Amino acid sequence: MSRDSSSGYQAAREREDAQVSLVLTWLSLAAILCLLGIGSKAWHSGHSTHALILWFFILPIVVNMVWFAFSGNRDIQKAGLLVTVSVLFTYLIASGGEGNTGPLWFYVFPPLLFFLTSLKTGTMILLLVYLIALIVFQFPELPFVFAEYESDFKVRFFATLTFESIFCFVLEASRLKARNELLDLALTHEHAAKTDELTGLSNRRDMLNRLSGEFSRYQRSGHHFSIVLIDLDLFKTINDQFGHNTGDAVLMQFAELVQTVIRQTDIAARWGGEEFLLLLPDTSLLPALKLAERLRSEVAGNSFRFQGQDLPVTMSAGVCSIAQVNSIDSMLRQADLQLYSAKGAGRNRIAPRVRSQATATHSESNT
Ligand code: GH3
Ligand code: MG
Ligand code: MG
Repeated sequence: MSRDSSSGYQAAREREDAQVSLVLTWLSLAAILCLLGIGSKAWHSGHSTHALILWFFILPIVVNMVWFAFSGNRDIQKAGLLVTVSVLFTYLIASGGEGNTGPLWFYVFPPLLFFLTSLKTGTMILLLVYLIALIVFQFPELPFVFAEYESDFKVRFFATLTFESIFCFVLEASRLKARNELLDLALTHEHAAKTDELTGLSNRRDMLNRLSGEFSRYQRSGHHFSIVLIDLDLFKTINDQFGHNTGDAVLMQFAELVQTVIRQTDIAARWGGEEFLLLLPDTSLLPALKLAERLRSEVAGNSFRFQGQDLPVTMSAGVCSIAQVNSIDSMLRQADLQLYSAKGAGRNRIAPRVRSQATATHSESNT
């Protein structure tokens, strides 16, 4: 079961990234509207150069949106918007915008930065922004600086921007902490809901889901699969003779042994009590019988031990391939019937009987 425990985390990250992209698309649209509106206002106030420069910034935003629509590359979408906004804000603080109000737009920066990047990268870019503001404020004689600000304004601007930045940092840090804790909790619950506590194998519910998934795959693309229904022999006797804890230890050791015999793509589940079910994708009846036989002989030859005692453990199993039936229910019924006949024939055996000349290997199949 630990085989796919990180896939939930991956899916959650993917969902989050998709959400960020959607917000960015709306933000880009809002930025375009703002630039159109403020540019028009500047135009009507006679600041035609300023208006044209503002309108010019619409171009990279549109290009970025179109690029994202075609490529779907979220990193470039973020970086594109960040660079555009950085250059725009640098222009606004250097030119003063209309009536020296350009620096006010800097207040948008801290929340946007922490939303788009990590706390570390956000802080670093923010420091860079401070440096730009400092240079513009301190050196109004520089060629690209057209605005000069009151010293009172500069002090208040830095003080309020610093306050806002710290506030955004703390908020984002606690949001991330809460989000990670929630995600961990959700993944733990998800794992618990799919896993058998004693053996760590899939539980019955998870196996039923996987069976129905595999059946759909078979219906879609004709990939054969098989199941092996295993029951430990005379398990009640083991419990009665050696105690329930010993029985539990046998179940755990059996689960470990199963994991070493099956392939990465096979799934083992505790079906209930001392019954186990194997799902073997891309495997037809003969290779499935071979695997079951190999497992049976490993179990019979393995020395199960608990607290210094050797335990006599064997298993019986019924095997069924999807080619023999037409639904998961009938597949399980058929495997159960075979298991019943293996028990009736004396236990420590697999049914249906595999002919000794069967040479197919477990890994080859797809028939
Ligand atoms: P058979 O070969 O016919 O399968 O005989 P059996 O004794 O294995 O079958 P039966 O169904 O009579 O007994 C199954 C036993 O498995 C009874 C039950 O106490 C035991 N068992 C089921 N779940 C657990 C468990 O989680 N831990 C332990 N220790 N025993 C369990
Ligand atoms: Mg049983
Ligand atoms: Mg049994």
